Amino acid sequence: MKIVVVSGGVGGARFLQGLVAAVAPADEVTVVVNTADDLWLFGLRVCPDLDTVMYTLGDGIDTGRGWGRTDETWNAKHELAAYGLDETWFGLGDRDLATHLLRSMRLREGRTLSEATDELVGRWSPGTDLGRVRVLPMSDDEVETHIATTVDGTDTVIHFQEFWIRHGARVPVRAVEYRGIESARPAPGVLDAIAAADVVVLPPSNPIVSVGPVVAVPGVAAALRSASAPVVGVSPIISGAAVRGMADQLLTGLGVEVSAGAVARHHGARSADGILDGWLVDTADADQVAGVESAGISCRAVPLWMRDPATTRQLATDVLGLAGDLRDGGR
Ligand code: GDP
Ligand code: CA
Repeated sequence: MKIVVVSGGVGGARFLQGLVAAVAPADEVTVVVNTADDLWLFGLRVCPDLDTVMYTLGDGIDTGRGWGRTDETWNAKHELAAYGLDETWFGLGDRDLATHLLRSMRLREGRTLSEATDELVGRWSPGTDLGRVRVLPMSDDEVETHIATTVDGTDTVIHFQEFWIRHGARVPVRAVEYRGIESARPAPGVLDAIAAADVVVLPPSNPIVSVGPVVAVPGVAAALRSASAPVVGVSPIISGAAVRGMADQLLTGLGVEVSAGAVARHHGARSADGILDGWLVDTADADQVAGVESAGISCRAVPLWMRDPATTRQLATDVLGLAGDLRDGGR
């Protein structure tokens, strides 16, 4: 079976750990990772979601923080602050820096982000879950999510990372823009993987800044709509709140209700020009199943908290179960 997952960072990476545990050895897992969180910092290309997926599946992640490397130190960051540089709100650890140095070096040599990613992933793959997953950036072209907001009474547009990390998502969201998306092309392999998939999964990644940019890359939404595989998603919202992160602030800012059902309707049914055939909500949100189904999306209520390896694996099994039923029953 060929499984394609459209992923952001933490939510997607955790789900992938469960998926790798749930699938059979012959199954092929491809992850298409959001790159619209990426930014240039001190001349380095930083790709937060690619690195979270790589470190998480490669056993290099700091599990306490949920991002960055294990046993990290912060000397370079403190030195940069001592030089008076302003961008030290972003957590660049010393070990993590090596990843960004290598990636940036390859990009300057004229390699693509896909090629640089292959080289980085190659280090972590042997003997880890990462070895079971093909990692594709959504695009080799630069796309950056910017947030129109108001800071200290002044309207401004800032990079998503500045909104999230520097401001802790405590400034209002007036609009979200995927800068560069019109001219971005899907990275090599992305459209083919979707077309050849038996199942396409939207894990519980942020709908606006993780899944949103991937789907907005020209050609990806059309590929999802014409795929022969069912597209099944997992709600990142449980009981009206994001489990982790800032999905609620973004949804509210864009006028989408913060609920599992509203996120499904935001993505829309494939039968109505959207991208979803199936959707999982948490058992706490069982009252939303009917509303999702009336939008033309098959919906089930199952436990969605990825608390530990067992619950995460069960969630992946439930996704594959719903996808299997959709395939058997036709859509
Ligand atoms: P990011 O790029 O690091 O923000 O990660 P993602 O976009 O992949 O995932 C972030 C989303 O994952 C947030 O909106 C969370 O609500 C959601 N999330 C995190 N942990 C869980 C969980 O255990 N269960 C569910 N259902 N969602 C989760
Ligand atoms: Ca992200």
